[in-house]
Amino acid sequence: MKIKKGDTILIISGKDRGRKSKVLQILPKEERIIVEGINLRKKHIRPRRSGEKGQIVEKPAPIHISNAKLICLKCGKATRVEYKIVEKKKYRICKKCGQEI
Ligand SMILES: [Zn+2]
Repeated sequence: MKIKKGDTILIISGKDRGRKSKVLQILPKEERIIVEGINLRKKHIRPRRSGEKGQIVEKPAPIHISNAKLICLKCGKATRVEYKIVEKKKYRICKKCGQEI
């Protein structure tokens, strides 16, 4: 997975296309990510005790990783990354500006 938790990404397809947001969670097996405020689904929460009210909350549903593009913090562009291994450490490199992300 080239996208990590906490990354800022650009949505490139679907109804949220063009929006930028932060990655909250990575689901590597499904190649999906959960992004703050993106692909919101309404969820009903049942009252836990009697007398409490049920609630409707909006929660972001996972999107496929191919619908998102990483935004480089160094150059601010939506980019692809490549990996560079230096002394057994892995670095993500922005293909646009060549800097570590
Ligand atoms: Zn860059």
